[in-house]
Amino acid sequence: MNSLLLVNIGQLVTVGSVTGSQGPRRGVDLKEIGIIQNAAVLCVGGTIVSVGTTADAVRDSWLKKSRSKVREIDCAGQVVLPGFVDSHTHPVFVSPRLVDFEKRIEGASYEEIGAAGGGIRSSVEGVRAASKRVLADKVLTTLQAMAAHGTTTVEAKSGYGLTVESELKSLEAIREAGSRWPGTVVATLLGAHVVPKEFQGRSRKYVEAVCKDMIPRAAKRKLAQFVDVFCDKGAFTAEETERVFAAAEEHGLRVRAHMGQLSETLLSPLLRYHPASFDHMDHVNDADLAELATRDTVATLVPGANYFLGLKEYPNARRLIDAGVPVALATDYNPGTSPTVSMPMAMSLACTQMKMSPAEAVAAATINGAWALRLADRKGSIEPGKDADLAIFSVKDYREIPYWFGANHCAVTVLNGVAASGE
Ligand SMILES: [Zn+2]
Repeated sequence: MNSLLLVNIGQLVTVGSVTGSQGPRRGVDLKEIGIIQNAAVLCVGGTIVSVGTTADAVRDSWLKKSRSKVREIDCAGQVVLPGFVDSHTHPVFVSPRLVDFEKRIEGASYEEIGAAGGGIRSSVEGVRAASKRVLADKVLTTLQAMAAHGTTTVEAKSGYGLTVESELKSLEAIREAGSRWPGTVVATLLGAHVVPKEFQGRSRKYVEAVCKDMIPRAAKRKLAQFVDVFCDKGAFTAEETERVFAAAEEHGLRVRAHMGQLSETLLSPLLRYHPASFDHMDHVNDADLAELATRDTVATLVPGANYFLGLKEYPNARRLIDAGVPVALATDYNPGTSPTVSMPMAMSLACTQMKMSPAEAVAAATINGAWALRLADRKGSIEPGKDADLAIFSVKDYREIPYWFGANHCAVTVLNGVAASGE
C-alpha cells in the first residue's frame, strides 16, 4: 500500500468542521478553516489516516516501525490546503476564442462577435468536427494544468456539441481523460447549453431531444452524474429547465443549473428537484435567498467570468453569505468567458471584487465545492477517512494564496494519494 507522510507543515488548513454543524458551510461557519501549526498528515492507500502536529506524528508507534516504507515530504514550513474542488468547468472544446476576445475589447456586441465568426457557435463547430481522442487529449491537458494550480477534483461539463452524438462524444472524452488522470472527475451533461442553429426558433423541439434522447442515453451508459441547464435569457426558460430537471430525475441523474447570470429567474419552483447547485447567481431576489438559506443547494460563484467579460458588477457574495446561503467558488473554465484553470485566481477575485475574506474563499473553494458536487463525505477537507487530496503551496501564510494574484505558488499536489509536482 502506498503511504505518504507530509511533515513540517507550517500551516495546515484542514477546513475540518469546527462547530460540528452538518451540511455545507454557511454564514459565520464559512470562515472557520481549522488551521493546525507545525502539522503532519499521513495518507495510506489514497486515504487520509491521521492529521495532527509533526511532534505527535513522529511519536506514533506504527509510523516509527514503518517509516522506511513511507514516502515522506518535508514541507519546510509551507502551507498545505485540501486540494481545490473546481465544481464548474467546461473543458471540452478545441480552440481558444481569440476573435471574441479581440472584438469584445473593441466594444463589439455579442451579435457582432457571432457575425465575425466567433461566439459559442465556433466552439460547437470545433467539437462536432473533432475526434473523441483529440477532445480527450485536450481535457487531460486541462486537468493537468488545473492540478498544477492545486485542484484535485473537477466537475467537467459537455455542452459544445449540442447533438446527441457530439454530446455523448464529449462525455466519453471526459471519461477517458479522467481515467488517465489521478484526480477525481465528475461529469455533467449540459446538452441544454444553448439552442443549436439547426433548432433556431424551435427550442421546444430541442428540449425534447435533450429529455428524450440525450439524457436517457447518457444515463444508460453512466456517462454523467449530473445534468445542467443554462437557464437565462437567450438560452432556456424556467419551464424548459423544469422539463430537463424532470427528465434527469426520471433517469436517476442529479441536477444543477446556470442561474441568474444575465437576468433574474424565480428559483423556488426548481427547488423540488433538489439541485446540488445554482451557479453564477449575479441576479437573485430576497425571497429566494431566504429559501436557499434553508436548503443544501450551493450558490456557486464564478467571478472569473465577470473579470474576463470586463464587467463592473460581480455577484454579491456578502449578501449571499450574510443571508446564510452556502457559497462555493469555481473557475467556470471555458473558451468564451473564463479561460482560467486557476482556483487561486478565482479566490483572489472573490477577495478583491466580492469582499470575501481569504478564509471564506478557501472554504468556498474546497468544502463547499465538494458539497456542490455532493462529494463532501470524501472531498474538500483534510480529515481522517477522506480522500488524500492535498495541495502544498510555497508560502508561509494561506492568505498569500489569493494575495499574490497571477502567480502560481502551488509546489506539489496530491491527488488520491498520488503526488504530482506543480509546473
Ligand atoms: Zn458555465
